Amino acid sequence: MPKKVSSRSLKAHRTYTVLELAESLHVTVGTVRSWIKQDLRTLSSKRPILIVGSDAKEFLDSRKKPISRRLLENEFHCLSCSTPVRALGDLVDCTLQSETTARLSAICMGCEKMVCRMISRADLTNFEQVFDISYRDVSAT
Ligand SMILES: [Zn+2]
Repeated sequence: MPKKVSSRSLKAHRTYTVLELAESLHVTVGTVRSWIKQDLRTLSSKRPILIVGSDAKEFLDSRKKPISRRLLENEFHCLSCSTPVRALGDLVDCTLQSETTARLSAICMGCEKMVCRMISRADLTNFEQVFDISYRDVSAT
């Protein structure tokens, strides 16, 4: 789980360097850099990197919700990333588990660990639209 960081100390109209933002939020510079790698917006990719307070607030506030938000069809919940993630290359293995359920497994695009999700077999056709699915029928072996 990512540590909860309060964005309340940030001023919306101020710009922050990576160091200033880290100090304002009591996190490490490395943490701020990893946010930027995720999708914290910066003013430019040139140095010094500047982050607008309101962008940082928005980023931090949006991080609080992802677990409760419903996954999109092309997403998996990654336990390591603690967030909905895309499947690497949209390549997915599907194991038919029962008459009604199937298990999709893939590689997390963020951390390259295995992710999986249970779906209803009735929804498989929808998933076939977004993924390149390889079937593994356990009952056939
Ligand atoms: Zn991951």
